[in-house]
Amino acid sequence: MRVLAVEDDPRIAADVAAALEGAGFRTETCADGAEAWFLGDTESYDLIVLDLGLPGMDGLSVLRRWRAAGCEVPVLVLTARGTWQERVEGIEAGADDYLPKPFRMEELVARARALVRRAAGRGGALHSVGDLTLDTNRMTVAARGVPVSLTALEYRLMAYLVLNRDRVIPPTELLEHLYGDDDAREANALEAVIARLRRKLGPGVIGTRRGFGYFIEEQDG
Ligand code: CA
Repeated sequence: MRVLAVEDDPRIAADVAAALEGAGFRTETCADGAEAWFLGDTESYDLIVLDLGLPGMDGLSVLRRWRAAGCEVPVLVLTARGTWQERVEGIEAGADDYLPKPFRMEELVARARALVRRAAGRGGALHSVGDLTLDTNRMTVAARGVPVSLTALEYRLMAYLVLNRDRVIPPTELLEHLYGDDDAREANALEAVIARLRRKLGPGVIGTRRGFGYFIEEQDG
């Protein structure tokens, strides 16, 4: 899961990034509204955390522009304390949820997870497919009820495949969600992670459609 955190207060930005990374999200930060608008318009994120008071372009304008351009990424808006007007404006501009400052990082993470789940069209934290169970709250994967020990990177890859289990995912999209675009990774880095996961999970879990990408096999083992 790839997240953009837009916040011009460097201390809050660092805390938000650390909390989201700790929760298994690949997080990029941005401190300028105009740059945020460009990133949201050109990159593919699973969630954007957006402060409203920003240099360059204010957060509400950024959000309105994304929505006007057809960008449907879930957006969690950070508002100043007690300003209900900002919350109303944020929701009218297309925010999916808001969090008044100051907030606990635990609440930010809980809301971020809920938004990503909702966007994936599935309500709960547990996702079962074939013999596999993904728990997005505990960030665990179990095969036939037995927990599988995964690295953070392996978990992110499995979570992305399971939450998008209705389609074949191109390697470029997986790489983007795993590493972000700032890291120029080779496709064989992805193949190495997939190979490790197949060793851990056994056959019949991650399928390959040659020339197209990877998918989660639905049938029971
Ligand atoms: Ca600000």
